[in-house]
Amino acid sequence: MSYFSYKDVYVEDGKKVLEVNILPEKYCNFDCIFCPIGRSQNKIDTQMSFDKTDSSLIELESMIKNTKAELIFINSKGEALVNSKIGKIIDLIKSKGLIVRLLSNGYLLGRDEYREIANKCDEVVGEINVITEKDFQKAQRPIEGYTLEEYISNMISFNKQYKGKFIFDVHIIRGYNDNEESIHEIKNIIKKISPDKIIVSRMDDEIFKKKLGITDERFEEISNALLNI
Ligand code: SF4
Repeated sequence: MSYFSYKDVYVEDGKKVLEVNILPEKYCNFDCIFCPIGRSQNKIDTQMSFDKTDSSLIELESMIKNTKAELIFINSKGEALVNSKIGKIIDLIKSKGLIVRLLSNGYLLGRDEYREIANKCDEVVGEINVITEKDFQKAQRPIEGYTLEEYISNMISFNKQYKGKFIFDVHIIRGYNDNEESIHEIKNIIKKISPDKIIVSRMDDEIFKKKLGITDERFEEISNALLNI
């Protein structure tokens, strides 16, 4: 029995992409109020070993073979870096000559042991959702002692030494980072992180859309402002 789960393969820039979740349930160092996975009892930032990883790896291998995927996107139910076998998972994908993209919320990229793992990947996605310390604590409910300043500096230091493609996902949330002052601040953060690619996203989940979503017009304005720095 495997605990990995998959999304249907899709094509991006001409490449077949297979998204895989490598956590049996939500394990994250944050517990965001807008998390699509829901609330978590498992707020951790140290690695955990899960049962049935060997059978999960065999399944991944056959999924790769059957789907003929060219890019494997590790997009998990939380922070994928906390799976103690993540290095092995990345190595398996790389041994097939495929591209590996890893989604992380970005906080752990500042720690040596996690940085080393992320460095194996061809692409790493980090993200930002709020731009004040108060909102970070209130909306993202991180592990005690985490700060927004450290969050951003972790991504800056990671990308300074990273040789792959760093993708920065700016998630716009109504009332948290959608005003002009916030956009100005996000631009400064982007300049400091210096990502290879920027993605601007917004609340898509129906349950959060009404309260935290922004209009199409505002989304277009913000996207234009952030994608043309
Ligand atoms: S960082 Fe992502 S996975 Fe973790 S709690 Fe926040 S929204 Fe959920």
